[in-house]
Amino acid sequence: MNLVLFGPPGAGKGTQADRLAAAHGWPKLSTGDMLRAAVAAGTEIGRKAENVMDQGELVSDEIVVGIISDRIDEPDCQSGFILDGFPRNVPQAKALDAMLQEGGLKLDGVIEIRVKDRILVDRIKQRISEAKEARADDTVETLEKRLEVYHGQTAPLLPYYEAQGKLWKIDGMQDIDNVAAQIEGMLEELSGDGV
Ligand code: ADP
Repeated sequence: MNLVLFGPPGAGKGTQADRLAAAHGWPKLSTGDMLRAAVAAGTEIGRKAENVMDQGELVSDEIVVGIISDRIDEPDCQSGFILDGFPRNVPQAKALDAMLQEGGLKLDGVIEIRVKDRILVDRIKQRISEAKEARADDTVETLEKRLEVYHGQTAPLLPYYEAQGKLWKIDGMQDIDNVAAQIEGMLEELSGDGV
């Protein structure tokens, strides 16, 4: 299955993508993880992305579309993949549709993990206090910026996918096991549809 995990920062996309990867063997493609790896490795992409990420803004479409397009071509993605953190705006979604179409592929579903902003702020505060090495963009101020970017640029993708009949809404305010169970239920329904 080719899936997108969608939701605001702190919604639990990464956790659920790891669960899905472990349960089904589909690799998790997280643009945030890939960009952090590029920053740590000091590559050209990393140097370009670092400041933008620290400010909570979006890295250029050219960079993220390029890294996802290369990654989707890898052999381990041929039987399915889980996108986490991509696409994050309408141009990225259109670029994704185009690259999938070119490879004779399509998205099977977009899973929106819904969590209220107030709860996200509490979660990120918790993540900061528990982290051994905090992420440079995990501060309350940057979170506010990331939420603003989410509502302004990323949330407009919801009607885009709703219009394609691909959007599945999941309550992300339940515990991790319950959220995972909702996603598995959704996958069963999708398979029942012959997807
Ligand atoms: P979050 O927990 O905020 O969802 P991510 O790990 O997905 O964080 O992303 C961290 C940062 O990496 C973002 O704030 C942004 O600067 C950059 N980034 C990740 N994915 C994308 C993308 N698809 N487009 C542009 N920038 C991105």
